Amino acid sequence: MPFSSFNLHPALLKAVKELGFVRPTPIQADAIPPGMEGRDVLACAQTGSGKTAAFLLPMIHGLIDRSRRTTRGLVLTPTRELAAQILEDLNALAVHTPVTGAAVYGGVGMGPQEHAFRSGVDVIVATPGRLLDHFRSAYAKLEGIEYLVLDEADRMLDMGFLPDIRRVLRHIPTRRQTMFFSATMPPLIGKLAAEMLKEPALINQQRRSAPAIGITQAVYPVAQDLKGQLLVRLLEGEVLREALVFTRTKHRANRLADLLVRHQINAARIHGNRSQAQRTEALAGFKAGKYRVLVATDIAARGIDVEALSHVVNFDVPLVPEDYIHRVGRTGRADLTGDAFTFVAPEEEGNLKAIERAISRALPRVTLPDFDYRARPQSKLEVPLAERIAEIRARKSQERQRAKVKAARRGPQGGGRATASPRRSPGPGGRRRS
Ligand code: AMP
Repeated sequence: MPFSSFNLHPALLKAVKELGFVRPTPIQADAIPPGMEGRDVLACAQTGSGKTAAFLLPMIHGLIDRSRRTTRGLVLTPTRELAAQILEDLNALAVHTPVTGAAVYGGVGMGPQEHAFRSGVDVIVATPGRLLDHFRSAYAKLEGIEYLVLDEADRMLDMGFLPDIRRVLRHIPTRRQTMFFSATMPPLIGKLAAEMLKEPALINQQRRSAPAIGITQAVYPVAQDLKGQLLVRLLEGEVLREALVFTRTKHRANRLADLLVRHQINAARIHGNRSQAQRTEALAGFKAGKYRVLVATDIAARGIDVEALSHVVNFDVPLVPEDYIHRVGRTGRADLTGDAFTFVAPEEEGNLKAIERAISRALPRVTLPDFDYRARPQSKLEVPLAERIAEIRARKSQERQRAKVKAARRGPQGGGRATASPRRSPGPGGRRRS
């Protein structure tokens, strides 16, 4: 189901596209349609599920063609970080609309927030405590509220905000659309929801797996050591069905292919150390669907008809912009045949900037909902140089040892058994001595 099926205002569809969202996440697919119909919504959804856009899109849609200077939308959220994040998402989604927003939370001056009330921004995103502080003053009136969102309701209750929420409710009209989001639904939350909602659409996303998200060209910021896990998740979640994956080195190509195979993902590799026969087999196997993933270094992939392949993943940011352009295409290659993802670790941001300059556009940044970006890496693709040198030394010394044994076996005249045989079978002389 594409975003276009929701009847969202074209200005919102444009913003969604620019953000790199191609397919709605499951919570969006479930919550946006009732939200657009003006129904109340009660949804179980975690952070990372895409819930913010699920409640913001219907709200912004409803506010676009309204007269301004009255605050009609209120989002209550437990922390200032969340409030700031939601405002950021609102600004990004509403970028092509006249809809405005402001955040109201503690720990900062009241002045600019007072201004937001007085000027009547369209949407206020607030933590309950600070909102109540403002309600003590005459300027803080929210009598025009038509849309109310409770975000992370269970966390707000855990933090002791229930009395504050009830107090806030007294300041806003009862005739309104309410969207209630909570990661869990303990009885107390059920009770509050029953008080606040009228015949809500019930959405339970708690146990759904990660959504399939497809984007034309997008960047996934991720720690270097989690890149392998992220690729596995994209493949397991069918966000990627098959992919040509570029790595910076042969070593990384090998290790990545091994990691994928350990996760039961059929993968082949091509790089400078593979024979021509091995490369041909890998490529033919990939094109025939025997392998879901072909891991390649850039040099080895030069001859491949990348245009004909669907997904391209730059597992490492290409060092020169030309390599990016060669792999992904100048214009809408991805629109024709598939998606192009680039994994960028913090230390690769500089190279990414150079690419963005070369293609004259900023690439949308995407996070995979439900992926644990703070997880401990399962295995490292990069073996530290010192360890690699030690490995090579050990191998060389073994080889030397073997060569010595071989030479000794051959003996001065090349006779093989002179030194080896007495130890293994003592021979007649030995037996005589015993
Ligand atoms: P949230 O659960 O709202 O905090 O969203 C988690 C992350 O998912 C945010 O970084 C969003 O930008 C991103 N996101 C939300 N919806 C989509 C979508 N349909 N496609 C891709 N990314 C999305």
